[in-house]
Amino acid sequence: MLRARVATACRVHRSLPPSLRHARHASSLKLNSVGAEDIAYFSKILPPTSIISSLSSTPAAADELDQFNSDWIGRFKGHSTTVLKPKTTQEVSQIVKWCNDRKIGICPQGGNTGLVGGSVPVKDEVIVNLANMNKVRSFDPISGILVADAGCILQNLTDYVAPHHHIMPIDLGAKGSCQIGGNVSTNAGGLRLLRYGSLHGTVLGLEVVLPDGTVLDQLTTLRKDNTGYDIKQLFIGAEGTLGIVTGVSILTPPAPQASSNVILALPTFKNVLPLYQTVKRELSEILSAFEFIDRTAYDLAVKHGQGRALTEEEIDGAECFVLVETSGGRREHDEEKLNGLLENLLTADEPLINTGFVSLWALREGVTEAVSKEGKAYKYDISIPLSTFEDVVNSTREHLRSKGLLHEKAVKAVLGYGHVGDGNLHLNIVADAFLPEIQDALEPYIYEVVQSLRGSVSAEHGIGAMKTHALPYSKSQVSIGLMKKIKDVFDPNGIMNPGKVLE
Ligand SMILES: Cc1cc2nc3c(=O)[nH]c(=O)nc-3n(C[C@H](O)[C@H](O)[C@H](O)COP(=O)(O)OP(=O)(O)OC[C@H]3O[C@@H](n4cnc5c(N)ncnc54)[C@H](O)[C@@H]3O)c2cc1C
Repeated sequence: MLRARVATACRVHRSLPPSLRHARHASSLKLNSVGAEDIAYFSKILPPTSIISSLSSTPAAADELDQFNSDWIGRFKGHSTTVLKPKTTQEVSQIVKWCNDRKIGICPQGGNTGLVGGSVPVKDEVIVNLANMNKVRSFDPISGILVADAGCILQNLTDYVAPHHHIMPIDLGAKGSCQIGGNVSTNAGGLRLLRYGSLHGTVLGLEVVLPDGTVLDQLTTLRKDNTGYDIKQLFIGAEGTLGIVTGVSILTPPAPQASSNVILALPTFKNVLPLYQTVKRELSEILSAFEFIDRTAYDLAVKHGQGRALTEEEIDGAECFVLVETSGGRREHDEEKLNGLLENLLTADEPLINTGFVSLWALREGVTEAVSKEGKAYKYDISIPLSTFEDVVNSTREHLRSKGLLHEKAVKAVLGYGHVGDGNLHLNIVADAFLPEIQDALEPYIYEVVQSLRGSVSAEHGIGAMKTHALPYSKSQVSIGLMKKIKDVFDPNGIMNPGKVLE
């Protein structure tokens, strides 16, 4: 069945109109390396502190460059000789124009917390790191519209709007390092998507330096603007392949007056969906997150000190856990609703949960970190029907077992956690080391499973360098053909984040 689908996809490709079939592959064009002439130019437009290069007159040490060339999970490594840290949009524009004229590849980099190898070069592209573009440009406490440089760290923006009783519409475990420009470029999801929707809705405007150095100023603060094509949407989730985002205008919601979290221990995964239905029905407008962690993920989080461990009595043999968050306008009202829910759940004839406790986000947020402390992680963030979450985790484990790879020297753990409310499963395979035999066992196996469920190979982390070959499992050849044409329109020389998103 799966083979038949793949064969159909190939036939579709051959029958495409020539205009789509022959869309040029910008990212495969030949690019040049940085040389002395380039460093001399960069030195004219940037102060010495904004240039980190092994080619400059005061060469950077290898380990200084290494941190920019290595990704967060330690799986992808670039070989850039030069990192540039501009402070203004004008500086970004001058760098990009020069690189385009000289056909030098650019890897835009935010907080470098991406999990798909998008933020480090595939070869020796110049890294343009946005960390120095870190100013809030304006905030309107009436409308809640924030305009900020792309390099602002998410946590700093959260802290900035807090005294005005607003919150950022996005929140994720990497908030202390990731930047708003990186969030926009990956269309990051995170923990608040259920309540506030995706960045495609909350981002109102962008300022982008296009691959020829032109500054596209669409930094509007309008809630409504129906003047033709909404070009900014193309950059949300483009992973730096269409330009460098330098400014972001975003709608920040009012901070909820009251917020509570409970962690629920479930005897079996089968109860997650009925529980979700019940919780949605009983909490309705105050439900703001519904996250699940399987037992293996919980054990790893606790082992690596993320959040408070429950006692054995509290766990009571639970197979998985659900974290429910409420956010609302009146504490007494919300607490009453939450307590009512817990009471109903615990006193039901056939209880869906073993126990429920007031909790903090640390446990759920800490799973990603715990996984990386445990070993090398193969991370798949997939969108699949909720009813298949458990089967997919279990069948992946069994698949690895059947290949003889489930033991201490190879795969140590297979676990699942994620945003139930968004249909997003994080399937993680933790190994002793990144090994070709594990990679071969996992791919295309997982992508074929996703395709058979009509899911997405990336719910929120993006494609990066990791999944360029996997796009056809989620997108039709017509879509991929159009993506290549769009890439060619913006970036005919293929300088912008080559080797990412499109092969
Ligand atoms: C502990 C942890 C928890 C996480 N939780 C979540 C989660 O819940 N949800 C989620 O979606 N992700 C999550 N992530 C992944 C990651 O944090 C997000 O993808 C985040 O949005 C990346 O932001 P960044 O600034 O670090 O971007 P980077 O990692 O630096 O870059 C990511 C991509 O965006 C491009 N890029 C960065 N800045 C710009 C720019 N200014 N202009 C153009 N392109 C740019 C890069 O080239 C790259 O392709 C998590 C990561 C960690 C480590």
